[in-house]
Amino acid sequence: MQARRTEAQHLALRHPGKVWINGHLQRKAVALTFDDGPESVVTPQVLDILARYQLKATFFFVGFMLRKHAAVVKRTYHEGHLILNHSYDHPSFDALSNAQIQSQLRRTEDLLFKLIGKRPALFRPPAGVIDNRIQAEIDAAGYQTILWSYDPFDWAGLPVDTLVQRVVSQARNGEIILLHSRLHTDSTAVALPRIIEGLQARGFELLRLDELIPVQAYR
Ligand SMILES: [Zn+2]
Repeated sequence: MQARRTEAQHLALRHPGKVWINGHLQRKAVALTFDDGPESVVTPQVLDILARYQLKATFFFVGFMLRKHAAVVKRTYHEGHLILNHSYDHPSFDALSNAQIQSQLRRTEDLLFKLIGKRPALFRPPAGVIDNRIQAEIDAAGYQTILWSYDPFDWAGLPVDTLVQRVVSQARNGEIILLHSRLHTDSTAVALPRIIEGLQARGFELLRLDELIPVQAYR
């Protein structure tokens, strides 16, 4: 995991404007990003909380769940959040051929287009697994790569207090924060109001990814 993140940092340096890990260090702002939805429990809870705080955030959805949770997908989009590509069924991309990588990107994109009429231009590889070959395929498919600069391990069943404390105390300017809106990461939704309030109390703006970094979310 650590080696992969180091590799990702090298990739971001080698591919400026194509691979993003964080936003501008001068700006007191962060982006909350939610991976691995949509489903019908945690994703709607996260949406309810974001609505209550009048915030727009960013979701990386997995293709095979889109059709089954079409109403959640449409709601997410209509409430002003970004819906971006997180592969079709979340494989580790280093185990895929180039053609399989293209298929993972295309199938999710086509399904999303049917549901919201938009084609995403930003992709997050499952588990952040990336190397030069994978990045070349992502680029060829017309996507920029979005990684993250802070992972509080919200999926690991942490106590809510620990999760809140981690995110609020660790956040730096320009941080892209990795969270999840998927089943069995219930602590994320429980912690989210306190994460939002804690970050705002520290003076951070909470932005959509396309407000934090100079990217276009859709084509
Ligand atoms: Zn994921």
